[in-house]
Amino acid sequence: MSKNTVTRERIIRLSVVAFCVITVLLGAVFASRRVVMAKSAAKFTVVIDAGHGGIDGGVTGVNTGVVESELNLAVAKLLKEDFTSAGFRVVMTRTTAAGLYGNARKSLKKADMQARRKIIEKADPCLVISVHMNRYALPSRRGAQVFYATGSEQSKIFAECVQNRLNGMDEAPRQSSPLGGDYYVLNVSPCPAVIVECGFLSSPLDEALLITEEYRKKLAFTVFTGAVAYLSNEGAFLEKTP
Ligand SMILES: [Zn+2]
Repeated sequence: MSKNTVTRERIIRLSVVAFCVITVLLGAVFASRRVVMAKSAAKFTVVIDAGHGGIDGGVTGVNTGVVESELNLAVAKLLKEDFTSAGFRVVMTRTTAAGLYGNARKSLKKADMQARRKIIEKADPCLVISVHMNRYALPSRRGAQVFYATGSEQSKIFAECVQNRLNGMDEAPRQSSPLGGDYYVLNVSPCPAVIVECGFLSSPLDEALLITEEYRKKLAFTVFTGAVAYLSNEGAFLEKTP
């Protein structure tokens, strides 16, 4: 074994030790931040709204015929896991495939939306996230798109935080800006609220991604990080602290 080889081995060993120390230190910092975040987050409620349900399936996948309401619920449940793990209280507008129109015999859509409104109002949330899938005439149109209620400045900032994270995903086909709009679930929310259109089921490429659990997990976590970024940067935690 030459002197150079010994020296190289020592450098490698020292590098490995240094890496382990840094990893442990970073782990400790991350763990303590998680504890702080969990303590703070426990005071906050997030409503996660899986769009459609029951006889209202929403849009369908161009190749597989997958139904939007099912994908919305799958993403909503993953989002719930992410927020719950971080210590948030989560209220879901629906947890099954059923719609929220109950025994209504007519105006089912109206009854469904009013039920969502009641759930949101009762929850007293700090954020509302409504999950949907998009559709467009051209199959080439792709990507996640975030909407907010026109005129709600905080919702716009929240939407920007989420859209920025979604734009940063490896799978993002383009850089999108959040769009303002007039949507019932956003208008009735008493706090910053967004609709996340997770992708276009009219696009074979988006559909192929969205039908996989792996991509849905990644997408849900990305939306979650956007929400946390909004709460952190905008001081919403402090504003809501009693
Ligand atoms: Zn929809």
